[in-house]
Amino acid sequence: MNAHDSERIKGMLEELGLGEAPSQADADVLVFNTCTIREKPDTKFAAHLGNAVAQKRAKPETIIAVGGCYAEAQRERLFTLYPDVDVAFGPGSIAHLGEWLGAGGAGVSRGRFGVDERSFAGELPMHRERSFQAWVQISMGCNSKCAYCIVPAVRGREVSRRPGDVVAEVTRLATEGVREVTLLGQNVNSWGRDLAPDLRTEFGELLRACDAVEGIERIRFTSPHPKDFRRPVIDAMAECDAVCEHAHLPLQSGSTRILKAMRRTYSRDRYLRLVEELRDAIPDLALTTDLIVGFPGETEDDFRETLRAVETVGFDGAFTFVYSPRAGTEAAAMSDQVPDEVKRERIERLIDVVQHAATVRNAARVGGVE
Ligand code: SAH
Ligand code: SF4
Repeated sequence: MNAHDSERIKGMLEELGLGEAPSQADADVLVFNTCTIREKPDTKFAAHLGNAVAQKRAKPETIIAVGGCYAEAQRERLFTLYPDVDVAFGPGSIAHLGEWLGAGGAGVSRGRFGVDERSFAGELPMHRERSFQAWVQISMGCNSKCAYCIVPAVRGREVSRRPGDVVAEVTRLATEGVREVTLLGQNVNSWGRDLAPDLRTEFGELLRACDAVEGIERIRFTSPHPKDFRRPVIDAMAECDAVCEHAHLPLQSGSTRILKAMRRTYSRDRYLRLVEELRDAIPDLALTTDLIVGFPGETEDDFRETLRAVETVGFDGAFTFVYSPRAGTEAAAMSDQVPDEVKRERIERLIDVVQHAATVRNAARVGGVE
């Protein structure tokens, strides 16, 4: 989602006549698109901002703009924390960046817009990094309450983009030469539920509508929440030529006890049944996932259940994360936080098991044409 937002930010800057500078030192305007999903991106941002501030001290007319989820999370104190920042904007207010920067960077007004004025970044001009591939936003925000996650607080409630708007964008992209689209939402499988009754539809229908667009050869999507993965979407995946035989299906933990504490609302068994259903319907399906180790209260036994689940499913790949407490989330206030050294030891063991499973799966594909 951040890569998508960055392409929109770039597109907006280009509309203002601001192109990419050959290097940071040459730039008149420095724009950061931040992430705050874990502590690590916050720390990285602080280091990058330090460099930007040094540059501004040497060249005071330099403008620093900070967007994205970190800016949103720190909305009350960003300018106090970082007085050298000129403009700040949340992920829902990218559309206002132009006004804030002013034409060509002139007339910068210091300030920000908040989540309450959200609009779809997907409606904005974009600068695609790859000519053949595009991100297409189908919803913003998230209505889930995963105990560890800051996304609902910084990206707000879920709002679905209208089906006609999504298909119109995909159609336009196809005429521009795009062959692969990735449909984006925090929970693509709940897309459509909040639409007006005359527009109400579901994600499987959207897959079919995008599949029907002339010129689109590959359709991907991320992420589906396992709790909302229903038969119509599985059928659409199986039947649509352009939909890739791939599901990124975040498991988070293999322990039902921990899944419950995380408020994921599915059990390990329900997840495994879904995997079976998907594999029955879509032969040779590639499966990837997200996993967190060290969620509060996670015991060695819980962790071993995650290792076992990885082996049972045989994922083709996984993003593995050390649990990172985020201020204001339910899990950050839990008393049984797992010590750092235990988390570190677990992530190393998990990575070994994930890599092994992925190597076996990938080795089986060598020599094949897909
Ligand atoms: N909406 C997507 C996830 C977006 S965040 C979904 O539910 O699938 C991407 C991933 O970051 C999550 O799946 C989770 O594995 C990880 N993540 C989120 N918050 C985290 C935290 N506080 N600590 C560690 N990992 C986290
Ligand atoms: Fe975060 Fe859960 Fe929403 Fe994903 S579904 S964005 S993990 S709250």
